[in-house]
Amino acid sequence: MKFSGLTEQQSTALRRGGPDAFGNPAETAVSGGSGSLCRRCLKQVPKGEPYLNLAHKPFTTTQPYSEIGPIFFANPAKATQMVVCRKC
Ligand SMILES: [Zn+2]
Repeated sequence: MKFSGLTEQQSTALRRGGPDAFGNPAETAVSGGSGSLCRRCLKQVPKGEPYLNLAHKPFTTTQPYSEIGPIFFANPAKATQMVVCRKC
């Protein structure tokens, strides 16, 4: 099984206010240092850094396992530290 993050195109669109899986813009939150794994670089968003919270459907087809769930990713345009990965 291979895990991969959102593409640059996907993350850029969402950071610019593009709709999530339910048609809503992403919400902004601040990382507590755990539980907010960035779906772009697959690393923890550092404590105190802002991240985006939105609904995501990772599948392009509809089948019994194609659920929609919450994801998070760093928002480097709002970050105060330079500790996110190069992808972010
Ligand atoms: Zn990241």
